[in-house]
This record gives sequence, C-alpha cells and structure tokens, in this order.
Amino acid sequence: METTNFNVLVIGTGEGGTTAAQKCAKAGKRVAIVDVLPFGGTCALRGCDPKKVLIGAAETVARSRQLLGHGLDTAATVAWADLIRFKNSFTGKVPAAREASLQKAGIATYHGLARFTGPTRCRSATRSYGPSSSLSRRGRGPALSAFRAKSCCWTARPFWSWRNCRPTSP
Ligand SMILES: Cc1cc2nc3c(=O)[nH]c(=O)nc-3n(C[C@H](O)[C@H](O)[C@H](O)COP(=O)(O)OP(=O)(O)OC[C@H]3O[C@@H](n4cnc5c(N)ncnc54)[C@H](O)[C@@H]3O)c2cc1C
Repeated sequence: METTNFNVLVIGTGEGGTTAAQKCAKAGKRVAIVDVLPFGGTCALRGCDPKKVLIGAAETVARSRQLLGHGLDTAATVAWADLIRFKNSFTGKVPAAREASLQKAGIATYHGLARFTGPTRCRSATRSYGPSSSLSRRGRGPALSAFRAKSCCWTARPFWSWRNCRPTSP
C-alpha cells in the first residue's frame, strides 16, 4: 500500500472540505482531499441546488392547480424523468469541475472511503495518508432514528435516483 505524506488531509469535498482545503493550500500547506462519493458534496449534488429545481416545478404545479377554473383550464403536471434530466444537466458537471479546481489550487485529490488508523494517520482502500493533520468535513448523515415511521423515510441520496416520483417501496 502506497503511503503519502501531507501537512493536511481533508475528508469530504463539500462546501466545508473544499473551503478548508483551499485555505490550507493558500497558506502554503501540502494538502490532500479525499471523498468516497463523487466530488462536490451534499449542497451541490444532492441538497441546496438540485432541490431548487424540484421546488420550482412543485410551485408551478401548485399555482396552476389554484388557478383551475379561474383562467386556466388545465393544471401543470410533473414529467419526472425530464425534471431529473434537467437537474442532471448542471449537477452532472460538478464532480469534474470541483476536482479540477482543487487540483488547480495545488491540492492532491483522491477517491475512496477514508478511515482514521491513528491520531495523525488515515487510510483508504489503496492508500495510507500520514502523518498529517486531518480536517474532517464529512457533513452530517441523516438522523432518521428519531422518527417512529423511519421505514417510510427516504434520504437525499437514493431519492435522486427515483425513476418516477411515486416509488413503490423504500
Ligand atoms: C435536501 C437538502 C437540501 C438542502 N438545502 C440547503 C439550502 O437550501 N441551504 C443551505 O444552506 N443548506 C442546505 N442543505 C444543507 C447543506 O447541503 C449542508 O449543510 C452542506 O452540504 C454541508 O456541507 P459539508 O461540506 O459540511 O458536508 P457535505 O457537503 O455533506 O460533504 C461531506 C462529504 O464527505 C464525504 N465523506 C463522508 N465521510 C467520508 C469518509 N469517511 N471518507 C471519504 N469521504 C467521506 C461525503 O461523501 C460527502 O461528499 C441542504 C441539505 C439537503 C440534504
């Protein structure tokens, strides 16, 4: 297994990890960043930005329903596959663009699940990192355990791969 030494290893390429990595690199540190999912994090790929596409469509449907019989004779309906294709037209570009901008800042980029193996050491499937300071900007996982009906809940990741907007089972 290859061992690589950095001053800072950042886990997670979302807004938090990307900002931290860029600031450390700017300060002259030797920085690496790793993510187990495509680069970009929750906000750009599964959260804030793509959500707005759904909100826009949902608001349009709701408004057209309110105006039924008051000037509109048909209500808008969602074409789920088209909507997701539209969402993908911008989220699809994020991982490569995020990785390229990190590399341009002189940051080494890696893909895989990082695990701590000691206070200053981490490893992924093919690589060991250390000794370094690790900045863990891994976001927060969904806290479904608080919900009594958690078997009926969906989280952001599988949600985006629904083939239609009424899945038959969780
Ligand atoms: C549906 C939804 C809508 C949202 N809308 C908004 C909004 O409108 N406005 C707003 O301000 N916020 C919004 N948020 C919240 C926002 O997305 C998060 O606050 C933000 O993304 C957190 O950024 P982060 O960098 O801390 O973590 P994240 O962006 O979650 O990044 C963490 C990264 O770490 C990686 N990772 C985790 N563990 C490991 C590991 N062991 N090894 C390697 N990689 C690992 C993950 O794969 C992930 O890519 C929304 C969230 C969701 C789910």
